[in-house]
Amino acid sequence: MANKYVMAGVMGWPVAHSRSPLIHNHWIQHYGLQGSYGLFAVQPARLEDAIRGLRALGLAGCNVTIPHKVQAMQWMDVVDPLALRMGAINTVVVTPEGALHGYNNDGFGFIQSLRDAQSDWRADRGPITVLGAGGAARAVVLSLLDQGATEIRLINRTRARAQAMADEFGAGVQVLDWSERHEALDGIALMVNTTNQGMHGEPNLDIRLDHLPRTALVCDAIYIPLETPLLREARLRGNNTVNGLGMLLNQARPAFNAWFGVMPEVTPALRQAILATL
Ligand code: NAP
Repeated sequence: MANKYVMAGVMGWPVAHSRSPLIHNHWIQHYGLQGSYGLFAVQPARLEDAIRGLRALGLAGCNVTIPHKVQAMQWMDVVDPLALRMGAINTVVVTPEGALHGYNNDGFGFIQSLRDAQSDWRADRGPITVLGAGGAARAVVLSLLDQGATEIRLINRTRARAQAMADEFGAGVQVLDWSERHEALDGIALMVNTTNQGMHGEPNLDIRLDHLPRTALVCDAIYIPLETPLLREARLRGNNTVNGLGMLLNQARPAFNAWFGVMPEVTPALRQAILATL
């Protein structure tokens, strides 16, 4: 491995905003490896060519990001079972034999970010409220179920989307109405915002925290800004909080390991390097 030059990258459209090159190139340098990680602006109509080109170009694999996460699955030779359940991949690994394997590491990144904040965190400590029913919510809910969560209260502005997820994921997921979001925080151990509300340029998440136990961990998938108004309010009333940066950084670790053969660490220096770009 030490002498081999390994290349990977991220395919997206647009893709210029992606922090993935910064993360992976930081690790390549930190671990003294030979290789590089690039940005590939791939139009949706060219995605098949680009995916098939990975093998021909000798790349170790790639990340796929918006809008390619669902479409890219169809050209994989093997899709990891968890990614299949999520209905999307974010990582492609080209095996030494040239097969394309698809994975989704967003759930891994999310769970790891909770563990980084609370080393003894467990999914079965109590009820969990998840707001949102988009791509991030699928990764969050599935990984929580995988970790042993037994009561997830799923709430989305468009109830039908949450209901479709609950129907698919089974008994551990209970759907509540958007109007019930304030009371849905009663007695919970964990709250996760996976909506875009609170993101830079978007309105704040419209929710009252008066029902939220002070012992509950409050997590936001958003990382711009690092502290959303939700996290700020939760912190000021005494709740422990987790921002979306840990999810972003940790999801990259298994992919880097698959391509470069080293399971990298999320260090303060890496956090600092990313923070400088936010
Ligand atoms: P998505 O699939 O587009 O889903 C957006 C969600 O936000 C939907 O549930 C949508 O509800 C909800 N929403 C939009 N406008 C709303 C409003 N005015 N009021 C209430 N709810 C509203 O997006 P996504 O990919 O899941 O991403 C969601 C967030 O997670 C983004 O902020 C993204 O940056 C973040 N994220 C972070 C990471 C990370 O690594 N930290 C990874 C992925 C995503 P409807 O169904 O009603 O439209």
